[in-house]
This record gives sequence, C-alpha cells and structure tokens, in this order.
Amino acid sequence: MFKLRILAAAGLLILTGCSASRRGVQMGYAEQPIFPAKEPVETEHITETPPLAPPAGTTPEMFRLPTNHLASAWIPLRRWSEEHKAGPVQRLSGGTVPTFALKTVSGLLIVRAYDLVAYWNGMEFHLGFAPQMVNGQPVLHSLDFAKNIEPLLHPLTLPEKAGRIVVIDPGHGGSNLGTKSVLDGSYEKVFALDWAKRLATILETNGWRVLLTRTSDVDIALTNRVTFADVNKADLFVSLHFNAAPSPTDHEEAGIETFCVTPTGMPSTLKREYEDDASLVFPNNRFDSENLQYAIQVQRLLLKISGARDHGVRRARFMTVLRGQNCPAILVEGGYLSNPREARRVAESAYRQKLAEAVASAIIEKNSVQNPELAAGNKLSPTNGVPVQ
Ligand SMILES: [Zn+2]
Repeated sequence: MFKLRILAAAGLLILTGCSASRRGVQMGYAEQPIFPAKEPVETEHITETPPLAPPAGTTPEMFRLPTNHLASAWIPLRRWSEEHKAGPVQRLSGGTVPTFALKTVSGLLIVRAYDLVAYWNGMEFHLGFAPQMVNGQPVLHSLDFAKNIEPLLHPLTLPEKAGRIVVIDPGHGGSNLGTKSVLDGSYEKVFALDWAKRLATILETNGWRVLLTRTSDVDIALTNRVTFADVNKADLFVSLHFNAAPSPTDHEEAGIETFCVTPTGMPSTLKREYEDDASLVFPNNRFDSENLQYAIQVQRLLLKISGARDHGVRRARFMTVLRGQNCPAILVEGGYLSNPREARRVAESAYRQKLAEAVASAIIEKNSVQNPELAAGNKLSPTNGVPVQ
C-alpha cells in the first residue's frame, strides 16, 4: 500500500504539471516526502456493489477534469489561518505526534501530522491528504482547506424557500437484504425502512415535503433512487443504512458514520475495489460544501443522542446513490448490526425513533423556514412518496 501511495503522490505531482506544483516546489513543500499516512480502516458495510470504474466518457453522470486542473499546493496552516483571519494556531503539548489546534469563531479544528483523521469540535472527519511537517510547521493540502475546512468555518445558510423537498432513501429492500442482525438475523432493509418512516413523519411536521424512495419491502435500483430525487426536484437526499463488520467473527466493531461524495482531486476515505479516480467530476460535486455541512451536523446529533462510537464523516466515490445527485446528499450508517450491543439497540423501536429525531433535528436546524400550510394545521401525509420501479 505504501508503495502505491508514493506512486499516486508522484503521479499527482506529474499530472498537475505546469503552474500549480511549480510554486510548491519553489517553496520546498513538494520536495517533502509524502509520509505514509495511517491507512483508514475500511469496515463500512454498504452492500451496493461498487461498480468497476467505467471507461472515460461512457457514463453520462461524470466527466474528467483536464489533468492540469488538479491543484496540489501545500499551504502552511498558520499562513492560511492568517490570510483567512480564522484564528490562532496552537501546538498542543503532550504526545509524540505533532498536534495542532486552530480556534475559530465557528469551532475548534484539531489536525495531527501525518494523520488523515482530523477533528471539528471533537468530532472525527477525514482529510484527503495527511498533513505534513515543514520546518516544524504543519502544512495542509489546498484541497483540504477548500473542501474540508472552509465549509466548516462557514455554516450553511439556506436561501428562503418554503416546503423544501427531502428524499429519504431506506437502504436495500426486497431481495436486496442488506446486512443482518447478529442477534436474530433481522435484516438491515427492515430497520432502514422503519427509521426512514419515522424520520419522514418528523420532517413533515416541520415543514418539509418528504418523499421516500421506497415505502415497502421492494428493491429499487440505485440509479432509480437517484432519478427519483431528480424528478421530484429534491433539495436534499438522505440514504439510511446500518453497518456490519467485514469479518463475520468480528462482533466488536461499532459506531456511526456519515458519508458524502469525495471532492474531485481528493483520495476517498473508503475506496473498496473501486478505482477511485480522483480526476472524476460527479454531478454531486457541485454540492461539496453543503454535503459536508449536512454530514457533520447529522453525525454530530446522532452521536449526541446515541453515545455511539464516532466513526466520523467519510468520503467515498463509489456510492451510486450519492454521486449522481443534483442536490446535497449524504448516506448514514446508523450502527453495526454485527455488534450484539448495537444490534440490540437498533432492534428497539424507541432507539430508532431517537435516531430519526437526531437526523431530523440536524436537517431542521439548517432549514428554519416553516411551511405556511403547516401553520394552518394542514399537515402532509406521512408517506406521500411513490417508489420508482
Ligand atoms: Zn446498507
């Protein structure tokens, strides 16, 4: 893996060619060896089949950027912070890995040298490139500043609009069972649908128009779930899943994580067998900032109500239901059904109600506009979505 990473890093430098990397070389950053970043643990269970990377130009939902579009400048955290008036950078004492804190008016950022995991207000999120050390100072990749840090500093503000449309996507269905509970073999598809219906009810009473990609035990093609959101002009897409450890004998893995699509030019947190071609541009990449903001907010409130282990906000490119979306889109993994303790909680309807309330609160906080119909007591039906067959 290490060798591959070096090759990939070298390839990126070559690809970026002329303008962007020259500056880095002159400044000395590009000469720094790319430290072997800690490999992210790839334990997510999303049973959609990762598609093989298609040949360029054959899939309408993506295109490639000209290769010289990929900026690769490494920027000192301190300089970036000064230029953006973000706040003071402090080196935290203790520990062998250099760790730095950036206090901003929006929150506290913690980054560690050579580590892809960073923290925003104590919550884990994943950088695309591990921070490096140059002359005793941390330097971060410009894409991480643009795609992972700036969106956190500038919370999402939605334009005025009543009756926003959210498409909730209960994972799996029909013969697509998803994972199953280690306790009694109950399927993920059942829990996901129940969670989705509970979430729908709460959002509807708070002014959202809610559509479900499925309201019964049917299998819907992943591409149809995207089309469904498109046709209905969704303002937000939320896919709900539960997880399982990759090894059937692993009953320890536990926690909650939230995914959004990987920004162009950046390696994914979770790659699976997918090629993870960083030059691909997906329709959903237009919403990189909103994706992260929703993901962070949803993850934060889920952790708050559940006390579950924080698996962080993660990036993936292979998820069909996310990358083709023409609106902000996230995928939530609400816990491990392979862990007896977590499976027991998920099996309780009261706990699924809590999960629904957490996701709803996160979404509602981003949307304070009330539906005028609701003010008049005219509530929408809880299941007005029609599955696309
Ligand atoms: Zn799933």
